[in-house]
Amino acid sequence: MSQSNSISTEQLNIWDKRHVWHPFTQMQDWERDEQIIIVKGEGSWLIDTEGNRYLDGVASMWTNVHGHCRKELNDALKEQVDRLEHSTLLGLGSEQSIILAARLAEITPQGLDRFFYSDNGSTAMEVAVKMAYQYQVHSGHPERCKFITFKNAYHGDTLGAVSVGGIEIYHSTFKPLMFEAIQAPVPYCYRCELGYNRESCNMKCIDVLEGLIENNKSQLAGLVIEPLLQGAGGMIVQPTGFIKRVRELCNSYDILMIADEVATGFGRTGKMFACDHEGVVPDIMAISKGIAAGYLPLAATVTIEKVYAAFLGSYSELKTFFHGHTFTGNPLACAVALRSLELFQQDNLLAELQPKISWLKARLDKLVIMPHVGNIRQCGLAAGIELVKNSKTGEQYPWEERVGIQVCLEARKHGVLSRPLGNTIVIFPPLVISNSELELLLNVLQNSIRKVTES
Ligand SMILES: *Cc1c(COP(=O)(O)O)cnc(C)c1O
Repeated sequence: MSQSNSISTEQLNIWDKRHVWHPFTQMQDWERDEQIIIVKGEGSWLIDTEGNRYLDGVASMWTNVHGHCRKELNDALKEQVDRLEHSTLLGLGSEQSIILAARLAEITPQGLDRFFYSDNGSTAMEVAVKMAYQYQVHSGHPERCKFITFKNAYHGDTLGAVSVGGIEIYHSTFKPLMFEAIQAPVPYCYRCELGYNRESCNMKCIDVLEGLIENNKSQLAGLVIEPLLQGAGGMIVQPTGFIKRVRELCNSYDILMIADEVATGFGRTGKMFACDHEGVVPDIMAISKGIAAGYLPLAATVTIEKVYAAFLGSYSELKTFFHGHTFTGNPLACAVALRSLELFQQDNLLAELQPKISWLKARLDKLVIMPHVGNIRQCGLAAGIELVKNSKTGEQYPWEERVGIQVCLEARKHGVLSRPLGNTIVIFPPLVISNSELELLLNVLQNSIRKVTES
């Protein structure tokens, strides 16, 4: 028996509360409450120290694709660890990172062929922002140093990523440390900040965006967007045609379009990448969460030849992209990512996903009539159920009431794990989730919403 297996739940709890500082967590609450400690995973399920099973309704922070402890992925990892665990990409090539880049180039939108690896979504976006700016410098435009971003956007927690983000509650503390970005209105149609109605608006927010671009055009390096779906901002789904219009604006004003596909990439929206839905090719694209199927930290910032080529020159010209991370292109993560891409084919995953997406849509339609469901947004196998105090007026629950958290705590009692975004209940299961598991997920969430909001 391994050492960890001999440590009691009680002891683990003591050490956790004494030593582990959890992300996005008020530790005073954490230390007070009893916590679940996960020790095993099987398919769409997580199992705790006491043997309780929980359906992983948010795919372990939106990363899991083919299920937990999937045999093929475990085997790929084991095989690779006996060949090479790590070797740097600084000054050396490494087999798995090369093959993975070549394979990814086949599936990423046409023309995105140059891969810069890092370890997580924030670094992939940090790289994107620095790459875009340095591209402008090399193109003779050092004054083009600003970015257009969207309200409510989330691009990660490092300072560059925070600077292009727009979630007040996460980001406002760090304002003095951030660079300034130009924030465009987001098409959050349920609560349109411009006061329009989706049926008749003809995407007026695009006109506002264009105005902002026009007013700042000589200073803009790029535009940063989560295509189709703002994830952490509350599962906000953009209207059809939105990213296409954004692409056209970036073309006409000659600014780089940076697509953050960290959450949407690898099948989540029903196609491999969200941009594929509208035939959009961004100039720079960040990918991470699902890339290694939820197994290991891995990310890439992918770009087109034009951007890559701007960095070429003699060494003394100092056009080098001076950026890098120690564990860049880690062979274990790349080996799992490669096997994951094969599983997409082998399992016919994207095709298998379509009936689940349709089923989810039909099932969510039945929740609309619940008295405290204000708005339901779905994009592929991701969805958000926004709970409101009054569904006629859209009046929100005060955030201090933590209605979203209450619902998830209730669901947990019935074996379902979820994590809300404010008062929006999130559905983001492993893509491999079975029909009956998906049904269980929705039933438990519905009952939990009812219990909490109607009590
Ligand atoms: C999660 C996320 C990030 C940040 O990724 P980390 O791996 O947590 O740093 C960036 N962008 C989007 C859209 C995300 O969902």
